[in-house]
Parts: sequence; structure tokens; C-alpha cells
Amino acid sequence: MRLFIALPLCGDARQALLDVQQDMRNQGVRANFSRAENLHLTLAFLGELEGEAVRAAQEAVLSLKGAAFSLTLDRPGSFGGLYWAGLRKSKPLDALAAQVRRALDQRGLDYDRKPFRAHITLARQVRAAEPFRVELPPVETAAERVVLMQSSRVDGRLTYTPLAERRLNG
Ligand code: ATP
Ligand code: MG
Repeated sequence: MRLFIALPLCGDARQALLDVQQDMRNQGVRANFSRAENLHLTLAFLGELEGEAVRAAQEAVLSLKGAAFSLTLDRPGSFGGLYWAGLRKSKPLDALAAQVRRALDQRGLDYDRKPFRAHITLARQVRAAEPFRVELPPVETAAERVVLMQSSRVDGRLTYTPLAERRLNG
């Protein structure tokens, strides 16, 4: 199964990103927009794992420690046809990503080792006949849950299923 570890996005920040997507639609943009429940920030991408390795990945997530912290989404960005929300630089976020990767290393699990670049994907395959603007007023959100997700297609629909969840201390 295809796995990754992420901070799910909820509350006001999720709504703010849905508003950005709606604003894009209103400007005539067509795209594969991320669904509300799929909005997330990837901390580590593991790829295909089975059996014992999946259990090890669950343990890695359950081993995480630390306090919840706040994040500020403050700028849209794009690369090719992919649009994302970027975040204000955050030491606790970098530390959490590093902790996740250490927990995977300790269990001999492989993951994509590209440097961590925090972003939340809003839309893929963006296409538009006319120029458009993407604006994202700064919005704060709490990082309080780290989740091991399975990524799959259910009836053709991209679906993320939680396999383990660690709550950061209030
Ligand atoms: P799809 O690829 O089906 O359009 P998706 O990219 O959301 O959808 P996955 O490819 O399963 O689904 O990826 C899950 C998460 O991991 C996403 O946040 C994605 O950006 C990230 N990801 C995927 N591949 C890599 C990779 N090689 N390195 C780092 N992150 C990755
Ligand atoms: Mg992908």
C-alpha cells in the first residue's frame, strides 16, 4: 500500500483554502482541486510498503512526541500546473519533520529523502483561458495531529485512509 505521513488540515485554515479554490473557480480556472478532507501537509512520503513495514510505520507515528504548535499559511505558490499554499517558516514544523524522519530511520524504513519543503497542495492540472490571481490572506492553524495515511483510489477517487494517529500534547 502507498503510505505517507502528514498533518491533516482542518478548521478555519481548511475553510480558507477552500475559499482560495472557490476564488480560482470563479476566475474560470479548471483544475483537479484537492478535496476538503484531503487537504494536508506531507511530512514524509514512504511509498509502497507491505506487512511488517506497515506496522513499523504505524509505530513510528505513535512514537512521536511534542507539543502542538501553530502554523501560518501565508502565501500561494505554483510549479507547472500545481498550486499550493505555502507556510511561514516554522522551527517546530521543521523539528517535527526531522523527528518523523528519525523515527523512520530508526526502524529501517525508507522514504523520499528530498529536503522537506512544507506545502499544502490546492490544485493539480490547473488550466485557465484567462490570467487569474491567487490570493491567500494569512491564516493560522494548529498542528496537533500527525497521521500515517494510506493513499488509494476508491471508485476512481483519490482517498486517504488513516492507519495510525498521534496527537501532539495540547
Ligand atoms: P495523485 O498522485 O494520485 O494525484 P497525491 O499526490 O495526493 O495524488 P500520493 O501521490 O499518494 O497522492 O501522495 C500523497 C502525498 O505524498 C502528497 O502530499 C504528495 O504530494 C506526497 N508525495 C507523493 N510522492 C512524493 C515523493 N516522491 N516525494 C515527496 N512527497 C511525495
Ligand atoms: Mg502524487
